[in-house]
Amino acid sequence: MKLHKITENVLYIEDTTNIGIIKINESNDVLIVDSGSDNSKGRRIIKILKDNGYKIKYIINTHMHADHIGGNHFIQKHIPEVRIFALREELSMLEAPLYLPYFIYSGAYPLKDLRNKFLLAKPSKVTNIIEKEDTSIFIEENRIDLISLDGHTEFQKGILYENILFCGDALISEELLEKHKIPVNVNIKNAKETLLNLEETNFNFYLPSHGSLLNNIKYLAKLNYKRIVEIEEKILGFLDSEKTTEKIVSYLLYSYGLNITNATLYYLYNTTIMGFLSYLRDEKKIEPIIKNNSIFWKLK
Ligand SMILES: [Zn+2]
Repeated sequence: MKLHKITENVLYIEDTTNIGIIKINESNDVLIVDSGSDNSKGRRIIKILKDNGYKIKYIINTHMHADHIGGNHFIQKHIPEVRIFALREELSMLEAPLYLPYFIYSGAYPLKDLRNKFLLAKPSKVTNIIEKEDTSIFIEENRIDLISLDGHTEFQKGILYENILFCGDALISEELLEKHKIPVNVNIKNAKETLLNLEETNFNFYLPSHGSLLNNIKYLAKLNYKRIVEIEEKILGFLDSEKTTEKIVSYLLYSYGLNITNATLYYLYNTTIMGFLSYLRDEKKIEPIIKNNSIFWKLK
């Protein structure tokens, strides 16, 4: 973990999930954007900020994934007066985080292998509710803008302050795109729209949660967009004859040279690819047929 200054009032902690820091007042109280994956991240965030003269007073999470909300619990336990902002629609994901592995596991009680720190955060109590139509929040006279970044999750939002955008997982770095091949998105239509919108923006800085600080987002947004289109084309190309969902998942993983060794990764990819199938169905390019007690997909 390393603390970097972007401007006098905006900093970030570089880590596996980057943490945004916004200075709220002259007493060096700060709002943090995301909190890492677990207690140990929470502890280290408090420490690194304390060592540099800052104190956490507010938390906002870009979205409800465990590696973004997992530090909330520890921070709230040790700084009980901390205010946690969350969108009304995401409130239960922070307070009852078991919903996330439930989501990933088709809504059934999740496999033990999915109840881990990558998917299951410790709960935290939301103190300030953000309504879906809110485009900004005010914290001690500071206006913090909220930019919709739907797609990676249903309600993901970017946090914009002093022309610096903390953009969550709307896109991932070129290195991670090379490593993971298929970026996690639950709603492909919205993910594409978000990337096109990001490409049109001209903020001074952008910080993806997994990647380095950028002063131009266009190249990376284009790259992430191109990968989504490539995956669509691969699926359509594979459906020269009808295939089951499982066949499509394993075909895509093979075709990108991926070798999945744990259930967490499998179900994350599975969720994203299911997202592609419903998107392509909405686009009237494929349709499901149910036969032999299985769902098959075919070109329309
Ligand atoms: Zn995420």
